[in-house]
Amino acid sequence: MKENEFKQVNYLWDEQTANQLDAVERLRYRSNILGADQRITNTGGGNTSSKVKMTDPLGGDEVDVLWVKGSGGDLRTSTRANFASLYMDKFLSLENIYNKAEVKGVKTEIEDLMVDMYRHTTYGLNPATSSIDTPLHGLIPFRHVDHMHPISVIAIAASKDQERLTQAVFEEEVGWVPWQRPGFDLGLVMKEKLKQDPDLKGLVMGQHGLINWADDDKACYELTLSLIEKAARYIEQHDKGDKTFGGQKYAALDEKVRNEILVKLLPKLRGMVSQVNRFIGTVHVTESVLQFVNSADARRLAEIGTSCPDHFLRTKIKPLYVDWDPQKESYDALVEKLETGLVAYRADYVAYYEACKHPNSPPMRDPNPTVILIPGLGLIAWGKNKSESRVTAEFYSLAIEVMRASEAISEYQGLPRQEAFDIEYWLLEEAKLKRMPSEKEFARNVVVVIGAGSGIGKATAHRVAKEGAHVVCADLSEEAARATAQELVDIYGVGIGVAGTGISGCGPAIGLSVDITKRESVRAMFENVLLVYGGVDNIIITAGIFVSPDKQGYIPDDKWALTYAINVTGPYLVADEAKKIWQAQGLRTSLVITTSANAAVAKQGSFAYDTSKAAANHLVRELAIELSPLVRVNGLAPATVVEGSSMFPRDRVISSLTKYNIAFDESESTESLRDKLAVFYAQRTLTKSPITLADQAEVAYLLSSSKFSKTTGQIISVDGGLHEAFLR
Ligand SMILES: [Zn+2]
Repeated sequence: MKENEFKQVNYLWDEQTANQLDAVERLRYRSNILGADQRITNTGGGNTSSKVKMTDPLGGDEVDVLWVKGSGGDLRTSTRANFASLYMDKFLSLENIYNKAEVKGVKTEIEDLMVDMYRHTTYGLNPATSSIDTPLHGLIPFRHVDHMHPISVIAIAASKDQERLTQAVFEEEVGWVPWQRPGFDLGLVMKEKLKQDPDLKGLVMGQHGLINWADDDKACYELTLSLIEKAARYIEQHDKGDKTFGGQKYAALDEKVRNEILVKLLPKLRGMVSQVNRFIGTVHVTESVLQFVNSADARRLAEIGTSCPDHFLRTKIKPLYVDWDPQKESYDALVEKLETGLVAYRADYVAYYEACKHPNSPPMRDPNPTVILIPGLGLIAWGKNKSESRVTAEFYSLAIEVMRASEAISEYQGLPRQEAFDIEYWLLEEAKLKRMPSEKEFARNVVVVIGAGSGIGKATAHRVAKEGAHVVCADLSEEAARATAQELVDIYGVGIGVAGTGISGCGPAIGLSVDITKRESVRAMFENVLLVYGGVDNIIITAGIFVSPDKQGYIPDDKWALTYAINVTGPYLVADEAKKIWQAQGLRTSLVITTSANAAVAKQGSFAYDTSKAAANHLVRELAIELSPLVRVNGLAPATVVEGSSMFPRDRVISSLTKYNIAFDESESTESLRDKLAVFYAQRTLTKSPITLADQAEVAYLLSSSKFSKTTGQIISVDGGLHEAFLR
């Protein structure tokens, strides 16, 4: 097939780019461009390999080295470090070890033991871990091998008459092997198949995907694309049009109504599925997803579950489908159906675990669904973090495409439940989970930092992100909010999954604008947070205002009102709007309001600021009572953080320096003036040390964390020790 003839996949090979690369980099390049097209393979799915002649670092001889995509990572974003390298001769000698085992074959002990043996064959001290698919590449006697999970080929592989369809689509070019869990034995099965029919260019792997090979890397890439193209064209010819999924049962909702229902439902739903572990949500609503959830066959097909093992490890064996009529039934009816649906789903999961478990199976995992399908609303996916929930949404949307295609050409079938279980609870999979580092303090949490555009808020956003939080950086200035969010995304990465509609497709941080003096603005911000992450956990408010008074300590009346609006009414409105979300979720969480040491010290010079902060202190106490037992509410009372603070603009710094008779030059930079003031303030404290943004951020974090889980209604001063500000 020629470059310009591909219609169903993107042909991306660029000869000039490829020719500048060494053999291993060419493999990396081929992998990246294959992974860039969701129709070719899913995020994290599939693997590629090249057998490359290299110099042995010990003997100096030329040896054959198998470079193969290792465990973890993703083809689209792979770098050289994601590829394992194995001496071919040593790898091939493993077949003798395998054959010596008394009991061998799929799912035997020797199969799992082989995975550890791959490490003994490592070339060049490469630390990349070989995956369970390594023998699929090593045992095929061609120089280059691609194993993909293309929608169109999985559709054939997940159909009732998959062997006949393979023949009909690919004729003699491609063979078929029935479903078998990947491992050494599957590699041997493929090797044998190729021995019987040396002309085969590839194999359809039952319920799984495609594998094909060539002795030239570009030829291998083009073969992969042409086989997928062929399958996709066959499917297109059989497309059922309006009759897809048995036709439409429910009509779609318009976007505005859909979002209104979603923002009401999401916190409730998050609470329901998060009783064992908290989840982060992704809302995925495409035309294709809507066509599926609104269809006559959705209930039947959802029950069959996902087919490709890669898919159901994230989506679970099946989603929860709620048969709700978006036109005729009420919101309350939907909640009721979700409640009963979840009870049934969990009971089903327990029954599946009990029926399929082996004596040495790992304990049962969280029985809640990770994919929820609702007519009119679309697909809501849940994961331990945003990246995972996006991957889950991606995988189910790919499964929908598989079902669409499979039902067009045949009848869709799932993997037998026992086979699904043996993948889900595979001891190797469990070992992988056990090797993962333990979760951080704010993993699975959505932390909203209001005032994150600068100063303490920005430092706090960075501090909580370090603890694994998903951070909503909110600020009056949208630009500043986005800048902080971008800093976090640059540090922690956007993750891997490709899904999420609109803002729900975001990464671990997002910047949103909010004016906390206006209830509608606060509400709109929270509605966005819900569509982004599905819920709200901790809120930290650092936004505040200090209007520089005149020499007598006075400010104009409108500035007095503004001071109260931002320092007192603002935190109240945030708490009052968040309350509805927190109550719908029913999960324990916390609120931290930044007040000030000034709240406790009566002095001359700043009536409005000082009294507003005293009111904020009492707001903390009253909210602690109002929001108990779900939400702990505490105050953080900083004093004189001058470093990088928007509360200390140049004119305030100069007026303070003048007030305290500190010598300065008008030509000095603002930072230099701030330093002078900070040193002066430090001398007034018991600890004699300047107070930094990091000091404040640390306590904002600690008060929100489980370390202070028994503390509420308190004000903690971070002021270096000001005895006049001691609370009693
Ligand atoms: Zn695979």
